[in-house]
Amino acid sequence: MAVQKENDEKILYGDPSITNGISVFDEEFDKVYAYDGQDLGLTLTDESTMFKVWAPTANDVEVYVYSDDLGTNKKIYKMIRGEKGVWIYTHPKNLDGHYYTYHIEIEGNSKEAADPYARLVGVNGDRGYIGDLSKSNPVGFQPFEKPPFFLPTDGIIYELHVRDFSMHPKSGMKHKGKFLAFTETGTTGPGNSPTGIDYLRSLGITHVQLLPVFDYSTESVDEEKLDTEQYNWGYDPKNYNAVEGSYSTDPYDPLTRVYELKQAIQKMHDIGLRVIMDVVYNHVFDAYRMSFSKIVPGYYFRYLDNHKLANGSHCGNDTASERAMVRKFIVESVIYWAKEFGIDGFRFDLMGLHDVETMNEIRVELDKIDRSIMMIGEGWNLHTPLKGKKANQKNAADMPRIAQFNDGIRDGVRGSAIRFEEKGLVTGNRKYLGNVLSGITGAISYSSQMQGFAQEPNQTVTYMEAHDNHTVWDKLLVTNLEESEEIRTKMHRLASAIMMTSQGIPFIHAGQEFMRTKNGVENSYRSDTSINWLDWERANERESDVDFMRKLIRLRRKHPAFRMKTSEQIRKNLVFEGAPVGVIAYTLRNHANGDEAKHIFVIHNTNKHDAIIPFPLKEDWKVGFGEVEIIKGKVKLRGMETVVFVAE
Ligand code: CA
Repeated sequence: MAVQKENDEKILYGDPSITNGISVFDEEFDKVYAYDGQDLGLTLTDESTMFKVWAPTANDVEVYVYSDDLGTNKKIYKMIRGEKGVWIYTHPKNLDGHYYTYHIEIEGNSKEAADPYARLVGVNGDRGYIGDLSKSNPVGFQPFEKPPFFLPTDGIIYELHVRDFSMHPKSGMKHKGKFLAFTETGTTGPGNSPTGIDYLRSLGITHVQLLPVFDYSTESVDEEKLDTEQYNWGYDPKNYNAVEGSYSTDPYDPLTRVYELKQAIQKMHDIGLRVIMDVVYNHVFDAYRMSFSKIVPGYYFRYLDNHKLANGSHCGNDTASERAMVRKFIVESVIYWAKEFGIDGFRFDLMGLHDVETMNEIRVELDKIDRSIMMIGEGWNLHTPLKGKKANQKNAADMPRIAQFNDGIRDGVRGSAIRFEEKGLVTGNRKYLGNVLSGITGAISYSSQMQGFAQEPNQTVTYMEAHDNHTVWDKLLVTNLEESEEIRTKMHRLASAIMMTSQGIPFIHAGQEFMRTKNGVENSYRSDTSINWLDWERANERESDVDFMRKLIRLRRKHPAFRMKTSEQIRKNLVFEGAPVGVIAYTLRNHANGDEAKHIFVIHNTNKHDAIIPFPLKEDWKVGFGEVEIIKGKVKLRGMETVVFVAE
């Protein structure tokens, strides 16, 4: 059973005599071959080294044990086929220090593949490494000692790329582009302002979300050429359970990258920050060259009826999370990162390609470790041939305690991410008012007119920008170039103020607080480092904007009313008030969510001109955020500004 791929690479799906006539594409395949043991991959003891790989369609499997990473000197050991098509070889010695691959033969054709379960790998991840993982623990490393944190709605997420953080020449950090930059304290940049993790701590955020830190493809960043300019976000997985080598000070030492990522996490935990990992289980860098397809071709991906790969991801392939061994792989991988590294949350790239059952199984397994571990994901509605329910906004009701990005409020405030010229509410387009009001409620079912996707506020991530698409600042340069820089700055601040006062889980893109620009580059996944880095000069120049964000964060953390736990609380306590056109006004009433304040009154003026707004209740209102005049008992709020009143 061979199929020719477009580029003439022959893809083999297995000998029907081995698989009892069941095709790898059949649903029946899982019933016969799904393996539920927890021991796939490498098991190392003092006296032995055991290899186990699931390859039901293979005629023959060997393990190649190399004496080093890049050399060809190897010993070959035959593996024995066991139950469910799991091949096993146990070597009667501890092979610590060696490298290994599997050699898979299917219908007379053979391929060499890294172990998909490998946790330690050589440079560029082409071979697994046989080593003692416990040697990668920094002194005092306790993955389960975490900063206190209880509910996702209390979180403030800050999305950051490892390399962006420190690469700027004036970042003040020594370990530029490396995990170790996250261990440096006392660093300063232009104007002697704090940089690095001191800066992160000064913001008041709760979670740092790292763009991919698992091992991604050599085509994106070649770990052997780190002295040349290379940049990539890393959304092209190669080894899901291994750490990316380019962020390590020595990608040739398999333990160093693990050790250094753990040091970074340890330091962040020490200073009170939790860490979310961006995971990309929905596609791989290349379906045909990935170990998955060399070991069990046809199994790990979704195919169209003509055996062509489905492509809902727009990356050339979609993994088949609904298949038993793919689901098992994903669940075990997430749990491994949570336990071994002390990861505090996971952000699922293109979660809408996964099935609901897989996501819920991850939730159940994470809860066994720690219920405060967050799960967020991109629940877009994507075209992929998945039978059953997709893990998207439409099916939020089936995925409690899993949050999804709210593109509705993002586009509502700033204009469409895809239609570049389109404006949003704060930039002069009122058509999206409904999206913004819904986003303020946390995208819950607030009223018969306002039906968001979320059942509860802990299912909504409220955001204005992320690594994808234009930054808010760059979008403003497209949509509002005619305005002055002062007006654009006000529009930008207003967007952040709407975000930070909304229900749900706020999400800040690193540098958003100093109006990050990528010089108009809308998709900078492989742009120069200088397009992507955090510009610490700009951070210093825009210190007052950074302070504006800090004040918003303080306001949010001070008042539980902005962080209501249930949709019922929001329906009961959040009341939209009458206001002039272009003004959003609402109260958070009656000590909402246990707030010390009796009431809170929030006003966003999206007009360029002043607005006069009456107070909704007879209270002794005091300004809690913003600047405002009171004239004849009414609020006079300047254009493009936010004010928050508090009644004790
Ligand atoms: Ca890599």
